[in-house]
Amino acid sequence: MSTPTTPKRAPRRRGEGQWALGYREPLNPNERSKKDDNPLNVRDRIENIYAHGGFDSIDPGDLRGRFRWYGLYTQRKPGIDGGRTATLEPEELDDSYFMLRVRIDGGAVTTEQLRVIGELSKDYARDTADITDRQNIQYHWIQIEDMPTIWERLEGAGLTTMEACGDSPRVILGSPVAGIATDEVVDGTPAIDEIKERYIGLPEFSNLPRKFKTAISGLPDVAHEVHDIAFVGVDHPEHGPGFDLWVGGGLSTNPMIGQRLGTWVPRDEVPDVWAGVISIFRDYGYRRLRHRARIKFLVKDWGAEKFREVLETEYLKRKLVDGPAPKVPDQPRDHVGVHEQRDGNFYVGAAPIAGRVSGSTLIAVAEAAEAAGSHRVRFTPQQKLIVLDVAKSEVDGLRTALAGLGLQTDPSPWRRGVMACTGIEFCKLAIVETKARAANLVTTLEDRLKDITADVTTPISVHINGCPNSCARIQTADIGLKGQIVTDADGNQVEGFQVHLGGGLGLDAGFGRKLRGHKVTADELAEYVERVVRNYVADREPDERFPQ
Ligand code: SF4
Repeated sequence: MSTPTTPKRAPRRRGEGQWALGYREPLNPNERSKKDDNPLNVRDRIENIYAHGGFDSIDPGDLRGRFRWYGLYTQRKPGIDGGRTATLEPEELDDSYFMLRVRIDGGAVTTEQLRVIGELSKDYARDTADITDRQNIQYHWIQIEDMPTIWERLEGAGLTTMEACGDSPRVILGSPVAGIATDEVVDGTPAIDEIKERYIGLPEFSNLPRKFKTAISGLPDVAHEVHDIAFVGVDHPEHGPGFDLWVGGGLSTNPMIGQRLGTWVPRDEVPDVWAGVISIFRDYGYRRLRHRARIKFLVKDWGAEKFREVLETEYLKRKLVDGPAPKVPDQPRDHVGVHEQRDGNFYVGAAPIAGRVSGSTLIAVAEAAEAAGSHRVRFTPQQKLIVLDVAKSEVDGLRTALAGLGLQTDPSPWRRGVMACTGIEFCKLAIVETKARAANLVTTLEDRLKDITADVTTPISVHINGCPNSCARIQTADIGLKGQIVTDADGNQVEGFQVHLGGGLGLDAGFGRKLRGHKVTADELAEYVERVVRNYVADREPDERFPQ
């Protein structure tokens, strides 16, 4: 006689925290914080309590959570080396000063706004200002007591820090040459402006599973492949200019190239379609585990077809038009140098090293632009800046003025191709230094590679991250450098990098190969890059892009 066995129950599927499926619990601490109080409410407490009570009066839940919705992070306490980053509690890394991100959608500012940004930097941020690779401006050394005045002055100039960070719809990337480029398919600016007007700061979209990054551009010049949502200019054979919709791109761990949904979206429908996609993310996004909460995980599980079907049936209540893929160049453009605009004027793109400028420099840029008859400046997703609307007769004078500020308009390939994240100078997650290292790398390579500079006809990008996150998009660089502690030849634990080679955007978009054991110490970095570049120049076919 056989022994009776307990019938096996089918394993119960654990929810991923998708609200639409009823999984509201269990919440992780971040979800709990957002549920307890809408993060947008923190501004009131900053203005009415913390700005008066000072740093010690700040509730820890606000300090390390909700402050981000207004672009505020505590910066790293000076003097803590990268080897200790992971061993300390967040409060041990917190300085009482803040990093503040000013959101600049489309990277577009007037010279008057630029002057305000620069003056605030001088008055409250020890003259710091970095151009980020999301077209923002980032200050450091901000004190909580100064925030009400900073907001008042920023908002007086039409600028904001709202939803510059946090689990929210962050700054919208746009082509830095929107509305002026001769080959632009369609100007995305009206769509960006409408989304900002209708949806930024709206409680309905201020509690997302994670951050949500948008790019809207009539040209493929905004790294659209690695955005949560991107609209890329495309000419439809029947309907004319509009946008191709991509979803689910992202970097950091589990990097993914966005997927095309195969739809054509006319410009005036972009805001509604954007709202549909972000609503899917809010409702179906995976909130249980933060490392699986970005929209790319949902897109990976659903696939493009199901995602489009849910968008059409549950959210838009209509079918979208099928559309073609956009034309993508083999190399993304960075707009550095002098280029003719559609109206016969010129735009002039200049290269600070890895986006590092200062308040004083930005004020001087505003003055130089105005002296050249321009009132518009744009920041680029490659940490560069562009002065628009320059008459031909003013171009040389402007270039000289910018060069005097350290902003070269005909930079070496190294100055042009380097990007770096914030790194250990201010970032609490950092393991290594990045910005000063980028500056040192550029000047060293300019000196050591003089003999072959003229042979480097296609730019070689070098992106430097201070930790395994990918704020400087290392997986999309020809040479990507991920900061970590490595062992040097004498067995010492020192700052260094894991190397990723051959990533890129554009026609052959793909992620760089992480070569196991391919690590360099920070001290060996220039020598290593020199070796890689010399080998590439010696072995390549004419005009061959850095191998992928
Ligand atoms: Fe900080 Fe890491 Fe991002 Fe660099 S990549 S800014 S070190 S989180």
